Amino acid sequence: MITRQQAADLDRDDPLAPLRDAFALPEGVIYLNGNSLGPLPRAAAERVAQAATQEWGQGLIRSWNSAGWYEAPRRLGAQLAGLLGAEPDEMVVTDATGLNLFKAVAAALALRPDRRTILMEGSNFPTNNYIVQGLAGWLDRGYQIRFVEKGEIAAAITPDVAVLALTHVHYKTAHILDMQGLTAAAHAMGALTVWDLCHSAGAIPVDLNRAEADFAVGCTYKYLNGGPGSPAFLFAARRHHAAMAQPLSGWWSHAAPFAFDRDFRPADGIARMMTGTQPILSLLAAEAGIALACATDPHQARAKSQALGALFLGLVEERCPDHGFTLGSPTDAGERGGHVALQHPQGYPVMKALIEAGVIGDFRAPDTLRFGFSPLYLRYVDIWDAVEILTTILQTGRWREARFQQVEAVT
Ligand SMILES: *Cc1c(COP(=O)(O)O)cnc(C)c1O
Repeated sequence: MITRQQAADLDRDDPLAPLRDAFALPEGVIYLNGNSLGPLPRAAAERVAQAATQEWGQGLIRSWNSAGWYEAPRRLGAQLAGLLGAEPDEMVVTDATGLNLFKAVAAALALRPDRRTILMEGSNFPTNNYIVQGLAGWLDRGYQIRFVEKGEIAAAITPDVAVLALTHVHYKTAHILDMQGLTAAAHAMGALTVWDLCHSAGAIPVDLNRAEADFAVGCTYKYLNGGPGSPAFLFAARRHHAAMAQPLSGWWSHAAPFAFDRDFRPADGIARMMTGTQPILSLLAAEAGIALACATDPHQARAKSQALGALFLGLVEERCPDHGFTLGSPTDAGERGGHVALQHPQGYPVMKALIEAGVIGDFRAPDTLRFGFSPLYLRYVDIWDAVEILTTILQTGRWREARFQQVEAVT
């Protein structure tokens, strides 16, 4: 492959290299887990400190107006819309991904009242399945979830399908579904789409309106570096705004929240998809991360992320040929998102040993090690060094030590 010096040369010529300074990364850590929790943008730490001491501490309740807290969900939504190919009034940043999925799928189902089938990829991130199972069971109107896998989706779009609720980039394998093609196939059959962009936003270029997506959701704490538990986003295409309805109608989705009417009347537009009071400090932290992603050309970011992933896989293949890894992601970099999955029978202790040595990735049962290649702060030398450390751990068998076998609550 290449030498460490050649990796350093790539960093020197990397147009995105200066962005690394926007993040407060700890010393001695190579962070390959931005696909789970992005690192801290320096601006986020400053913004939260200022919001806490000034806006909350001094402004108190006045800050809902004077500091723009009340508009924050729609302000962030409008900003993020630019990155994801939506119009500013089609997106809001609010609630958790799972809650937004609940609302979006419910809204889509209500727009197709004569149909009873929801199509999903069974191996998808399980919370999506659980949320839709919960919704379908609760509605008690005979809804059925049809679980299929990647290659079977198009053929499973039959005339009884109301909604395709699909994740664009798979959380484990990183395979990418064809958003535009599947949406067109859904529409041709009279169905609607809800796309989960958790592993897409900030990782690969997304153009919701070009794909004619109906609804979309996704989190801001992965590649958008919004902070632990930061609010998620929800997109609803403008053509659905007048007719859409969702069951978690709260005062923030009311046409006149401060009229305090007894009965619900839906707000016009995307506000209808909100529910109630939002975690403002988390929203303001997320605003800093979203701003960084929005200031970066998504195609340039994608090219670098692919190059980092390809370098990693090439080095692993060269340095660790007999160590039992199999690739759990598509071999073609164009068919996978921002991370790669390596399968290994001893994946858990290997990942724990890596983390102790400062190379942070994560593990997904039963045997998958995930390595994320965020282009905003990673250097080519980081990838080179990470594989060097991985090679040492495997060659010395250090992962066999007892402390790496203990399974922790969060993997
Ligand atoms: C990360 C992720 C989620 C997270 O949902 P939360 O509501 O934030 O817990 C949901 N779906 C997918 C596909 C994800 O990757």
